[in-house]
Amino acid sequence: MSQASPVIVATYAEIALKGRNRTVFMRKLINNMRTALKGAPVEDIRHVESRLLISLTDPEAADEVAARLKKVFGLQWISPAVPLDRKPIEDAAAADLAAGREPGLEPICLAACALAETHGGRAEHFKVATRRSDRSFTLGSPDINRIVGRAVHLSTGLPGRMHDPDLVVNVLVLKDEVLVFCAKEKAYGGLPAGSSGRVMVLLSGGIDSPVAAWLMMRRGCRPDFVHFFSGRTVEEADTDKIRLLTAGLTPYFPLPLRLHLVPVVPYEMRAMGAVPDSYDMVMFRRFMFKTAARLARANKCRALVSGDSLGQVASQTIFNLGAISPDIRLPILRPLIGMDKQEIIAWSREIGLFETSILPYRDCCSIRSPKPVLTARPHELLRYSRAMDLDAAVKEAADASSRVDIG
Ligand code: ATP
Ligand code: MG
Repeated sequence: MSQASPVIVATYAEIALKGRNRTVFMRKLINNMRTALKGAPVEDIRHVESRLLISLTDPEAADEVAARLKKVFGLQWISPAVPLDRKPIEDAAAADLAAGREPGLEPICLAACALAETHGGRAEHFKVATRRSDRSFTLGSPDINRIVGRAVHLSTGLPGRMHDPDLVVNVLVLKDEVLVFCAKEKAYGGLPAGSSGRVMVLLSGGIDSPVAAWLMMRRGCRPDFVHFFSGRTVEEADTDKIRLLTAGLTPYFPLPLRLHLVPVVPYEMRAMGAVPDSYDMVMFRRFMFKTAARLARANKCRALVSGDSLGQVASQTIFNLGAISPDIRLPILRPLIGMDKQEIIAWSREIGLFETSILPYRDCCSIRSPKPVLTARPHELLRYSRAMDLDAAVKEAADASSRVDIG
């Protein structure tokens, strides 16, 4: 960025609606921002009149700092801004008014023109949008819009347009400073990481489950991950892709992420001969969910998360989803349940995981019987569970799991 921008202004949305807990959420948000900005040239983070102002020591770092902040859940908009001292501007405006002149607001106009020049690009019209968080300022918003708008028009030649302009120059009047900024980038909103409790995410090597994890992280959850692999040992299974997917989610969370790797052999040994082929897929998924629930309890996770999307594949019919967990007491969160594959892929690209998700990987689900039952009933699954001693398989698998911390 060529324009000096020693401040980044960020807004938060949902936290503003929190009542008495608001300070707890704010503290968490600011701590998460500090962690995300570790090592960046940041002087301080201040909470000023419903905005967060991040002062930089190196103006050149504005883009990088903004990119890191975009991954901090709870923030709504992020924008590099030019900060100006309010008092001299206000004194000069008051003197102009006393002398019967229209105030020039020169520092604001200069900053606005420079930003319009940098960000104008192929814009065909513009508008100045002023907000006075502190309304005691000598001039009202319409006056500031008019004065600064005229200056931007003279300097860029662009006409003003109030409705749907290509370029918006924002002027924000605070108690001690005035901020001028153009490039507002939408962040992801949500709640600060770690503010909603822990969840155990069933992570496969596909596209869906990392997106499901990300969506629950955006709601403030702290995720543990569990992945089921075929093969006798972790080394033999080659779970590099799963580690890479987990690593892809670490920029969105302030602490290292835990990945539990679980062998599926205990299921396979017991299901053989006891579970008919057509029930193997749903029974296997039941095994995964029950084992995940066991690990969840051991790791203080209060819910399971999976990447199921209704009807996407045979194992995800409304019957099968309902039948696999009659005896699992933890809530099972399925944030993708109503999404189309194309929407899920769009999220996967947006959060930067798509390229990793499409790397080749032989997931243990992909080697199960090709024609699963579509309408499994809970009592049938409970019968097969007893026949194969599913509880023993679950215990054995959980006992054989290993944990890696990533990030
Ligand atoms: P894809 O993008 O290929 O659909 P997926 O992850 O959704 O990948 P599915 O076969 O649709 O794969 O599985 C549905 C859900 O079951 C997954 O989203 C995941 O939560 C869970 N799951 C599947 N396989 C595994 C596995 N090997 N380990 C852990 N969870 C798994
Ligand atoms: Mg899927």
